[in-house]
Order: sequence, then C-alpha cells, then structure tokens
Amino acid sequence: MIPAQFDYIAPSSVEEAIRALAEHGDDAKVLAGGQSLLPILRMRLNAPGVVIDLGRIGELQGITEEGDTLVIGAMTTYAAVLASEAVGTHAALLSKAIQTVADPQIRHRGTIGGALVHADPAGDVGAPALALGAEFVIAGPGGSSRTVAGDDFFEDLFTTAVGEGELLTHIRVPKHTGWGAHYEKFVRVSHQWSIVGIAATVRSEGGSIAEARVGLTNMGSTPLRAKAVEEALVGKPATDEAVRAAVASVAEGTNPPSDLNGDSDYRKHLATVLTRRAVLAAAGA
Ligand SMILES: Cc1cc2nc3c(=O)[nH]c(=O)nc-3n(C[C@H](O)[C@H](O)[C@H](O)COP(=O)(O)OP(=O)(O)OC[C@H]3O[C@@H](n4cnc5c(N)ncnc54)[C@H](O)[C@@H]3O)c2cc1C
Repeated sequence: MIPAQFDYIAPSSVEEAIRALAEHGDDAKVLAGGQSLLPILRMRLNAPGVVIDLGRIGELQGITEEGDTLVIGAMTTYAAVLASEAVGTHAALLSKAIQTVADPQIRHRGTIGGALVHADPAGDVGAPALALGAEFVIAGPGGSSRTVAGDDFFEDLFTTAVGEGELLTHIRVPKHTGWGAHYEKFVRVSHQWSIVGIAATVRSEGGSIAEARVGLTNMGSTPLRAKAVEEALVGKPATDEAVRAAVASVAEGTNPPSDLNGDSDYRKHLATVLTRRAVLAAAGA
C-alpha cells in the first residue's frame, strides 16, 4: 500500500527538529532509518501529516570515545556500529547482537536510535544495551537534555522514556574492554525476529567468572536484565555444571508472550537453555 500523503521536513540540527516537533505536535512523526516506520505508514496504521527526517542532522551520527564511555549517535546505522573497531573492542556484546538483526539491507538503513525508541520487545539491541548499563540522552524543548538510565528507559511495549516533543540523541555505553560476549538468538528460520534472545557479557579471571551481565529479549513487554543471575554467576568456574546451576532461575519473574512461535512456558524453558549457552560462550568455555 502507499502511505497517506504527508509533508516532509528535513531539519539540519536537533534544535530545528525539536522546534518542528513542537510546532506540529501529534500530527508529526520522526523518521530515522524508516525500517519500522515506513511499513507502519504503508499499512496506514499511522498517518502523520508531517514526517520529520533526522537523516541530515550530523550531530546525531557517529561514534566517539569519552574516557570510559562510548557515545553513539542515535542516527548511527547498524552497519556503522558493526564496522566500528571501538564498539568491537569495548562493547563487543552490541556488535554480536547487531550481527543477528535482519539482513544487510536493513542493517544498512536501520539506526540504533530508531530501534531503541521503537522498543519492539523482540528487537535485538535493547537487551544488550541494558546488559551493558547504557544510558540514553534525550533532548527536549528549549535546548534541554536529560540522561535516563537503562532501567528507566524501556517503559512498556513500544514505549520508552522519550516523550512527545523529544528526541533520543545519543546512547552512552560504558566500556567493557576485555569482556567476552555472546548473543544467543533463537529463531526457526534465518532472518526471523527473536523468539527469545539472550545477551551475555562476562569478565573472566583465571577460569572463573569475575563479573557478568545478562539481558533478555522477548521475555516480557520490555527488554529485561537478569540481575539475580548476574550475581549468582560471580566467582563460579566457567563449566557447564556451575553455569547451569547459576542460571536456572533466569525465567523467574518474567512474563514472555505466547504466540504461534511458542507459548510462554516454552519461552521460559528456552531462556534457561539459551542463557547457559550464551554465558558459556561469552566466557570462552
Ligand atoms: C523485514 C524486517 C526484519 C527485521 N528484523 C529485525 C530483527 O531481526 N531484529 C531487530 O532487532 N529488528 C529487526 N527489524 C527492525 C529494524 O531493526 C528497524 O530498523 C528498527 O526497529 C527501527 O530503526 P529505524 O532507524 O529504521 O527507525 P524508524 O523506522 O525510522 O523509526 C522507528 C520509530 O522510532 C521513532 N524514532 C526513530 N528515531 C528516533 C529518535 N532519535 N528520537 C525519537 N524517536 C525516534 C520513529 O518516529 C518511529 O516511531 C526488522 C525490520 C524489517 C523491516
């Protein structure tokens, strides 16, 4: 289907984009890579009168290092994140997860910021961002800017802390240099969305797990972080037996969906199996 008619604006700064959002209010929709928005417009599930394209705003593009933090512009494409040596070295978990997103064409257009704001519970970047302790920089009217912690960013299905009239501008990712990483994505056919995905990154010391971070994809209405499992893994040897015991409770307190790909109990079982695999792979075992 062809989208309903809309006016197209392509501002060249965040300030200009925020002003356009304020002017058009509910009638406006922000366009990043368009990989989620355009299908929605084509199916006429949404028909904004104005589309504000962020593609010409240079300050939203690219990856920089600020001390112990990687700062990723919201309009940085998946492909650019994958090509980044800094991300590969200091936040390998993000690279591993993005390798599994869709196909090269979608990774060429889709942006990390668009994916995070879209907040599809089956999306593959939310869980690694949470596991890495990422923070989200949100710009608002009057030059205001606030930074939101991962735990507060994902609010519900397709809902984040980015409010009306606001833009996600950057993602701040603490460096995890030297940590092993693995994203275990369970699908029935290639290029499918995650039925369940597990993001694990581990710092090993002398064959044991010194620190671990674990994020869960599609195990509830938002990405989740498995803090109890992270704690249970500390000090454990990276063996099948020890990791199996430490991750046994990973599905506790989760509320995964039931759909044609599997019911909620099946996903809980999957999460337990996949977390063990992800942690062992991240630990290099
Ligand atoms: C066939 C197909 C398969 C896919 N498979 C996967 C998959 O396996 N795993 C996966 O994770 N994803 C998958 N995706 C989704 C893909 O990752 C999208 O690229 C992503 O969800 C949206 O990023 P985008 O840059 O294209 O955003 P857009 O589609 O342009 O925007 C998405 C939403 O975010 C809003 N928005 C965008 N940027 C900002 C911003 N900076 N501030 C405020 N609001 C903003 C837009 O208004 C819109 O509501 C798939 C998509 C397709 C079409």
